[in-house]
Amino acid sequence: MTDRYAVVGNPVAHSKSPRIHAAFARLTNQDLSYGAILAPRDGFADAVRAFIAAGGRGLNVTVPFKLEAFALAQRRSPRAEAAQAVNTLAFSGEGIFGDNTDGAGLVADLTRNLGLSLAGTRILLLGAGGAARGALLPLLEQRPALLHLANRTADKARALGEEFAGRAAGGCLESGGFAGLAGRSFDLVINATAASLAGEATPLPAGVFAPGSLAYDMMYGGETPFLSAARSQGADRRADGLGMLVEQAAESFLLWRGVRPPTAPVLAELRGA
Ligand code: NDP
Repeated sequence: MTDRYAVVGNPVAHSKSPRIHAAFARLTNQDLSYGAILAPRDGFADAVRAFIAAGGRGLNVTVPFKLEAFALAQRRSPRAEAAQAVNTLAFSGEGIFGDNTDGAGLVADLTRNLGLSLAGTRILLLGAGGAARGALLPLLEQRPALLHLANRTADKARALGEEFAGRAAGGCLESGGFAGLAGRSFDLVINATAASLAGEATPLPAGVFAPGSLAYDMMYGGETPFLSAARSQGADRRADGLGMLVEQAAESFLLWRGVRPPTAPVLAELRGA
């Protein structure tokens, strides 16, 4: 029988996950189907249980259910525990397992697709919401010289900084508000705020982008407000989060199927569309 998977969210119609996983299944000769489930905002757990009862094997979880998925999981990966959010659920006789592949997807996009080596670099991570939290541990594991976390609400960044301080080798993790960025420069600036979603760019002081640096927006859709501002501030290289989306999907696929799918042709197909 064909194994069933899906993405669950609200809204979910815009999701590219069905297309990505259909391509992965084709490229790896896996017999599976992958759909999209629109769950009512107050009906996430019921939607998951109904999917399990119908024989479903795994779910990707998107906005606004990642925290509920974390709570629903009976066992969780260390990276899900660090992120305090779950974007991948796997169902088996041992119950509901929760993982978070977003941060690993980001690191895979940066290192494999964009060719960066993050060890010894200076990274600025903007934002202190779910996406920033999920990225912190995978980024720290790359052993940057510095990881500076900056958020509009400085206290939220400081709280996250304190929480992850024990995981930062050599005290490389700093945190604070945007004002503390004056006079600093970075090799990689990652926008993990929701500002681009609102059509806004995070105000950054001149000089934040070091020569040769990469500006990376987790939001995808070509030249986002953040990337456009980065260009005018001299960022030599710029990338949106489409590669992260494909790579986090590949990590989910690996968890479910035990096979790592090729991502380059899928990313190229999405970029072409
Ligand atoms: P959250 O709502 O959890 O976090 C919002 C964050 O953005 C907060 O730090 C908030 O700051 C900040 N923010 C919101 N508006 C502004 C603004 N106008 N100026 C400056 N800061 C602002 O969102 P998520 O963490 O879930 O998502 C963040 C981004 O990451 C989204 O664009 C999302 O699409 C993207 N994403 C991409 C993925 C991919 O696969 N490519 C996967 C996951 C997320 P404050 O605390 O001050 O309110």
